[in-house]
Amino acid sequence: MKSTLGNQSKPSSAGRQGAVRDNAATGDWAALRAAGLSGPVEFKGLLVGEAEAVLKAIGEPRYRARQVLEWIYRRDAASFAEMTNLPASLRERLAAVAGILRLAPATKNVSPTDETTKYLFRLPDGEAVECVLIRYRHWASACVSTQVGCRMGCAFCASTIGGLVRQLAPGEILDQVLRLQALTGQAVGRVVVMGTGEPLDNYEATVKFLRLLHEPYSLGLGYRHITVSTSGLVPGIWRLADEGLPVTLAVSLHAPRDDLRRRLMPVAKRWGLDELMGAADAYTSATGRRVTYEYTLIDGVNDGRREARELADLLAGHLAHVNLIPLNPVSERTFRPSRPGAVREFQVSLDRAGVPATVRRELGPDINAACGQLRRSSGRGRAPGRTGKGPA
Ligand code: SAH
Repeated sequence: MKSTLGNQSKPSSAGRQGAVRDNAATGDWAALRAAGLSGPVEFKGLLVGEAEAVLKAIGEPRYRARQVLEWIYRRDAASFAEMTNLPASLRERLAAVAGILRLAPATKNVSPTDETTKYLFRLPDGEAVECVLIRYRHWASACVSTQVGCRMGCAFCASTIGGLVRQLAPGEILDQVLRLQALTGQAVGRVVVMGTGEPLDNYEATVKFLRLLHEPYSLGLGYRHITVSTSGLVPGIWRLADEGLPVTLAVSLHAPRDDLRRRLMPVAKRWGLDELMGAADAYTSATGRRVTYEYTLIDGVNDGRREARELADLLAGHLAHVNLIPLNPVSERTFRPSRPGAVREFQVSLDRAGVPATVRRELGPDINAACGQLRRSSGRGRAPGRTGKGPA
């Protein structure tokens, strides 16, 4: 069959061959609808079983699914046309009824002080998400976003200022990793879900994204090389514990007692530290994984001796590691970062109490690396009144 792949993204209506093709595509649309798939089918974000269902519906062999997905995830194919080990007829049929999402790089900020690059990517609907590539000697770590905006309302965070705009689809989260790899030429060996958004408030998409990172036809990342950070959605932590995905759980604590935590994080009004620590322990029991507790140090708010002592008491007996994060100042917020001396003192007192604590390498305040800053400075995320609902 003569290949017309040069044209594949725009279905032709001219000429006999075009008409034949359009008829075939009409049949495929009907078959997909009959199989409960509303088109066009977005391939990026599909697990192999789902891609098999698509191919089966249009009467193609199921084993093609893995080949198509390998092209998309491992070889970063932008179109079906370039999948040259597949029959041309299959590529044409897929191009007519399916797509392969790709985020477009909008801005790039490279930190002069370290090897951190922050990107803003444009989504197909014009919204934007930010993600960061952190280079180490032999590998790179990708920090990805799970939502456009966020509805958690943390008092020190820029991501939440305009509220939740929308959820990201699994393919939109995964493509952040693929784009970072393609744009920097660096293989991503670790993924941290610590960009904009609350991953457990976009639960299904996040879990599917984690599976996609791990699948052999996709990036093949070990779950141990993935960290999911949550502000403390307790039911989500319980649910994640049952998924059988031994990713590292990071819990954003930021305060060792409920009254202070409620001032900083509205989610603490819904679930107290007792419930949060109970869920984190359940996560450890289910996965054998040590939980990381994130603690952003804010000058005069949560960085005193009292808080260091209370934090050590709270974590005593738990399999825990504390990640101290010097606050990234956000222009819309009044909080200031702790003084370097206070950071050191806080770390030493945790250490003395037997709680392992490290100070997180700064993600480059010089490149607007604090959550949500880049998207806001690009002019997106300022819209008032789009605040979504509060946490469930
Ligand atoms: N929603 C998830 C992931 C978000 S961001 C969560 O809350 O865990 C990852 C971490 O950065 C969280 O611990 C978050 O509280 C923290 N963070 C947000 N804004 C910050 C800022 N301006 N400075 C320092 N840390 C910040």
